[in-house]
Amino acid sequence: MASTIARFTLDGVQDADITVHPFATGDGLGLELTRYTRGESDDVVLLVHGLTSASDVFIMPEHRNLATHLLDSGFTDVWALDFRMSGRFPYDTESHRYTLDDIALYDFPAALAELRRHVGDRRVHVIAHCLGSVSFSMSLFAGAVTGIASLTCNSVSLTPRVPAFSRLKLTLGPAFLEYVVGLPYIDPRFGDAPVLTRGWMLSKAVSLFHRECDVSACHLQSFQWGAGKPAMYRHANLLPVTHERMADICGASGLHYYRHVRKMIEAGHAVKYDAGSKAHASLPQNYLRNAADVQTPLLLLAPEQNKVFADSNPHLHKILEKAAPGRHELRPLPGYGHLDPLIGKNAHLDVFPHIVDFIKRHSA
Ligand SMILES: [Zn+2]
Repeated sequence: MASTIARFTLDGVQDADITVHPFATGDGLGLELTRYTRGESDDVVLLVHGLTSASDVFIMPEHRNLATHLLDSGFTDVWALDFRMSGRFPYDTESHRYTLDDIALYDFPAALAELRRHVGDRRVHVIAHCLGSVSFSMSLFAGAVTGIASLTCNSVSLTPRVPAFSRLKLTLGPAFLEYVVGLPYIDPRFGDAPVLTRGWMLSKAVSLFHRECDVSACHLQSFQWGAGKPAMYRHANLLPVTHERMADICGASGLHYYRHVRKMIEAGHAVKYDAGSKAHASLPQNYLRNAADVQTPLLLLAPEQNKVFADSNPHLHKILEKAAPGRHELRPLPGYGHLDPLIGKNAHLDVFPHIVDFIKRHSA
């Protein structure tokens, strides 16, 4: 769908110096941090996207985005990460067997090392979404990253829970698509594929079940993640332009991470994908094992209309309250779904102030 907004544009953040910082992971991937600064600050904020998206969810020009909101709120040094799930990189649509353990072990420690090279020992606050939030939380609770002043998790963290229909899809979906349909990944742009190709047929088949709007990329996003019409957000919370360019914001993504998420859902909390993996020997089998020892306070944002990760964050908050009473906070978000707390037209009124308030209370 044509849009006047360029893909991957940085125009959504005005009056900031923007610099790009490439770095490499220990297992050989090139990743990138983008820094938006209006001057030095004792409190640095790092933004972490989710699966199928990229740092673009924090810098969209059509609404008051989170990066701008933070800069305007006095947090004048904001960094946005693109890690291996990012739609700005090819990694997730290539043939791969990466798990969230790889991200926890390789991506975030390398990102923090690059960040620290520039900001030294200033306080670093992290705001993370979706599987970026799950994997960053894993990295933090495993001790692979340390010295984080606060962590805000949107939608989900260490206890992924999904609606029953999603559970069925997670169980059958990856093998069905890879072996039966023959697609290694799902692309929201399949609606634009040549007629009668596998991608085109999948798009048409999915759209038969989605009469709630006429944007096929929106239907494929619902198919890929969650159980709802739509699943990822509430239509009413999006600007029309955001809805129409959904394929720019949530791109193509592979299926293997779903297998790890399924294991976590079965276990009831974040677990290592392969308990016997030598490469991941430094990671715990149960990421909640040392929950009481983790000093970083978490803000768990819990959208009440979450059709992707259901009540994951309220559930985790109960567990963490037992491990470390009073350390972590739960913030229900009435009227919001999984992704609209970040990309919604009124997120700067309904959601971002809660994040800013939380970070301010853990600054200075
Ligand atoms: Zn839609």
